[in-house]
Amino acid sequence: MKKISRKNFLRIASAAVLSGVTAGALSACNSASSSSAAAGSTASSAASGAAGQYIPGTYEGTAEGISSTVKVTMTFNENGVTDVVVDTSGETASYGAAAADELKEQLLAAGSAEIDGVSGSTVTSEAVMKAAKNCYAQARGEAVVTSVQLPTGDENDWLGKEPDIDEAAITETWETDIAIVGAGNGGMCAAAFAAQNGLNFRIIEQNSSVMETRHWYGTIDSSEAKKQGVAPVDRAELLSEISRSMGGRCDQRVVKTWINESAAMHDFVSGILESEPYNYTCNLTLGDEAKWPDDTQISQTKLMFPVQQVDYSSAEKPRNQVFQEYVESLGYSIDFNTALAKLEKDSSGRVTGLIAQSTDDGHFIRINAAKGVLLACGGYAGNPYMMEQLDPLGTSVTTACSYTPADKGYGIRAAIWAGAHLDAEAAPVLFDRGLVAPGVNAGYVESPSSFGGKAFPGTVGQYNPGSQPWLKVNRHGERFMNESQEYDNASHAAFQQPGHVYAMIHDANFREDVDRFHTIGCSALTRYIPGMMESQLEQYEAEGLIMKADTIEELADKMGFTGADKDTFVATVARYNELYDMQKDEDFGKPASRLSAIRTAPFYGCWLGASLLCSLQGISITENCQAKDDNNEPIPGLYITGDMSGSFFQNNYPCVMGGTACGRTLTFAIKSIKQMAGLENA
Ligand SMILES: Cc1cc2nc3c(=O)[nH]c(=O)nc-3n(C[C@H](O)[C@H](O)[C@H](O)COP(=O)(O)OP(=O)(O)OC[C@H]3O[C@@H](n4cnc5c(N)ncnc54)[C@H](O)[C@@H]3O)c2cc1C
Repeated sequence: MKKISRKNFLRIASAAVLSGVTAGALSACNSASSSSAAAGSTASSAASGAAGQYIPGTYEGTAEGISSTVKVTMTFNENGVTDVVVDTSGETASYGAAAADELKEQLLAAGSAEIDGVSGSTVTSEAVMKAAKNCYAQARGEAVVTSVQLPTGDENDWLGKEPDIDEAAITETWETDIAIVGAGNGGMCAAAFAAQNGLNFRIIEQNSSVMETRHWYGTIDSSEAKKQGVAPVDRAELLSEISRSMGGRCDQRVVKTWINESAAMHDFVSGILESEPYNYTCNLTLGDEAKWPDDTQISQTKLMFPVQQVDYSSAEKPRNQVFQEYVESLGYSIDFNTALAKLEKDSSGRVTGLIAQSTDDGHFIRINAAKGVLLACGGYAGNPYMMEQLDPLGTSVTTACSYTPADKGYGIRAAIWAGAHLDAEAAPVLFDRGLVAPGVNAGYVESPSSFGGKAFPGTVGQYNPGSQPWLKVNRHGERFMNESQEYDNASHAAFQQPGHVYAMIHDANFREDVDRFHTIGCSALTRYIPGMMESQLEQYEAEGLIMKADTIEELADKMGFTGADKDTFVATVARYNELYDMQKDEDFGKPASRLSAIRTAPFYGCWLGASLLCSLQGISITENCQAKDDNNEPIPGLYITGDMSGSFFQNNYPCVMGGTACGRTLTFAIKSIKQMAGLENA
């Protein structure tokens, strides 16, 4: 059997570390360098805002100057602006046009659109500021509107009201068969499939580029798995396991759509990525890398529960970019800077299309879609109003942000306005990697520069070693769980603990521990990437986020334990060493291979909460991916995929079923197109 593509994994992983990107680019799973706004952080420190608040890309904004339209082009990484081009060439030569260089320098230095401007060129300066604001808004994933303000949510009313758009303001009409909203993971797969089938469709995207690709996707009995000799999955067992994991709240027929159709989805994806001009190689996670140590109880099969996860993460171009090129090569285009404002229905209740708004100039476009609309707008993790009101538990245990700012739930709200039903249960993707300083609680802090004025307090997107099953204790120094669990278990267990955070402790032999623990999935990055943990320990110690000490007592002091809590902490470490010596966890039943000694200095400790990746609470759908109304009846003409689709994940995201989120997103995207185009029997 072919081994996991460890070489490729290491290559990109190391490159990511070297470039400081640390694996956010790698996977779902590890965006160590991204983060949300820190409490009290300033919005405009030299050319950067709060870390992790921007969608990397190049954005263009325009505004009317004194005699021309001035253009500002800004390039962002996830932490701030890296390049600015100011085009004021149409302005008065000796004033506005000459001010371009100075305005560019001011924008780079300010780290915001608020600059002094150039005296004598006030109008041009103001236009440049306005255009730069537009770039910032796009980079934050906000739909930029000028004429009618899209409701963006409210502290007490996340849903808001459907915008009432004056007919006279709709200055353009497009006719198509299928309208796809969102050029992300679901939308781009749908567009590529529709293009391959020569369908008549339009795809709109609020931003000026396609969304980041999520590389790892789950498939069942794919051609790649067959090629590698992997035994077929027991589908009945998988269905039952997923249903159990969702507390029975999913629609098993919807889950079956992914189970039964993900192999065909993979054939479609691989058909493009493995053909000319790309010829990429598919990686399948299998063998030891899909297998937990024998004594762990993660699942009965001891495998990365039977989902077969594939990726093209080592390929030169990410999947969404390839799909964009593919779609364009077939004569289609993506309408960027075009945001969904609302859906339109006829008197029978059928969704007939939508009204979109240009994020460039605010004008409205009616898109009539004869065969239907597919919404693929992502979830609501980037919208604090929706998070607080729909997912108070997830919100209260989160310390760090790995989500994209574009995930504001706009698609969910538009679907509900059109009569669709939102599942009742929140289902956040929470990874136990939200590093914070001693004394910081989980939950939002004030952050004026962030959408909704709130952000999570962590300054590190994901501290990957947080998922290692080392000793974890609460603020009283007490152990409170078997630490060998799925990613979100520690975070959810912390809901029962003070501050909703916990400390993780290990000693100098952490490298041996990590090898023995042999966690799989993305937490294995700590094992795979040479020197990653060592360099992070050093970096985060310097930032006051990792505590290092020569004795356990000194570590207790640095971690903030005082009085009786310090005594308890020291006693807990001693007891943990005792359990290790016995090779039996009498207290919580953790498997012996996941116990560790804490005896060799230096000792390390850190405080953790959850890092939030995305929300998976979505619009209830049928097994054909059609949106359902409050009576669980399908809404004609409206299809949903991705993070904004429901009926599947409830309460949690089972991280041991790697790639299921993206796998079902791609599968449902294709299913929706097939349904609308009549390519299969309904
Ligand atoms: C850092 C990270 C890594 C992840 N990695 C993995 C992984 O490896 N494997 C896995 O299974 N899952 C992963 N996930 C989860 C995965 O991203 C999602 O489950 C899923 O793939 C998202 O697809 P989507 O199409 O629903 O949303 P997205 O890919 O987020 O796309 C939504 C698009 O809609 C656009 N949009 C939103 N509102 C509007 C509007 N009003 N008008 C027009 N456009 C709009 C957005 O700008 C965006 O481009 C990861 C998540 C994160 C945050």
